[in-house]
Amino acid sequence: MKKSNPFEGAIKQMKKAAVKADISSEQLEHLSYPHQQLEVYLHLKKDNGQTQIVRGFRVQHNNWLGPYKGGIRYHNQVDINEVKALAFWMTIKNAVVDVPFGGGKGGIEIDPKTLSNTELERLTREFVQHIAIIVGPDMDVPAPDVNTNGQIMEWFADEYGKIIGKDCPAVVTGKPLHCGGSQGREEATGLGGFYVLEELVEKLKLKRPLKVAIQGFGNVGSHIAILLQQNGYEIIALSDSKGGIYKQDGALDAGSVKECKKINKSIANCYCVDKICGLSRDNKGDITNEKLLELPVDILIPAAMEGVINKKNAPKIKAKIILEMANGPVTSEADQILKKRKIMVVPDVLANSGGVTVSYFEWYQNIKGEKWDLEKVRSKLKDKMVKAFDTVWEIHKKKKVDLRTSAYILALQRLSSKAQKI
Ligand code: GLU
Repeated sequence: MKKSNPFEGAIKQMKKAAVKADISSEQLEHLSYPHQQLEVYLHLKKDNGQTQIVRGFRVQHNNWLGPYKGGIRYHNQVDINEVKALAFWMTIKNAVVDVPFGGGKGGIEIDPKTLSNTELERLTREFVQHIAIIVGPDMDVPAPDVNTNGQIMEWFADEYGKIIGKDCPAVVTGKPLHCGGSQGREEATGLGGFYVLEELVEKLKLKRPLKVAIQGFGNVGSHIAILLQQNGYEIIALSDSKGGIYKQDGALDAGSVKECKKINKSIANCYCVDKICGLSRDNKGDITNEKLLELPVDILIPAAMEGVINKKNAPKIKAKIILEMANGPVTSEADQILKKRKIMVVPDVLANSGGVTVSYFEWYQNIKGEKWDLEKVRSKLKDKMVKAFDTVWEIHKKKKVDLRTSAYILALQRLSSKAQKI
């Protein structure tokens, strides 16, 4: 089967929304291509002395609203069309949540779990040497994404500083606190998604407790799981790339599952002791990633990779709401099917925009030499998320279109009015 091209799907979604937005066909054409893309070949020195050639990418999609901005992922299935789609979604996302950034994204085609820490550091530093020429606080500002973290961002900033001959923390966000990171950056994507969901539950007047299944238990999935549980939602299924666990009656304890995953390295088979996760082998608590998506829940949260909800499984989804915490988890074909089935999709460009919002706060603090406390970060994040949600909701009601189309209309309008002034 031919692998679908996520960039083409993303452009299709944009063009659909554009019919209802105030944007010229020239501007739309402009947004249908990235400004530039760089493909690099890294010569990774392995600990055993051998060299492995590894491909990496940085795509700069658009900078009408500000410097290109977006994460870097390390994954063995990274390819140029995926990175182009991800860079495009960053352009839209930054416009929706109203931060002064454009869209960019990077990726390295590697499974970082196959590398030692020293190999990971060498790979990261070599990548920075290749892309240093096109990044910078006013040009392009990377951040963490799938399988990358604060440590990798610290190496990034350090290597960039060496290249330009001075410290430059604002070149990258998502850094640890001790080298210019912001309070609240790590939890930001999950917390932002939580604020959006709470607004939606309020608007729809849904009766609590609500049942939730979450696919993906990395930084985003684990934070939102714990937050939801603390606020009375019932987490009935959780999974990571190797599989998951499911509790038919009652709910899982997300904090304990996190502890268990730390020890076991995966959620699959992570029954813990009965009293911790509430599962035992006899409860038949296993669930595959595919089956998790089809569970009878109120809210389904894909928080891992793109394209997991597609035309094959969209007819089988039973959730009432899908909160897209991953980027691009629902394909454009699936979107149509879900719409017909009256399943509400909260799009990635709104739901997961809390991460880049606090990245903006971090970049701003670096540039101004400020240090904000956690309370200030959280309250500013909440303001941004609620405002973005309310504006998208208003368009949804006024124009009678789905939330993704509404978010795109908002983004395209903002992009278009800025482009006219450039
Ligand atoms: N990788 C995150 C995203 O997809 C964060 C990007 C950033 O902070 O620049 O939104």
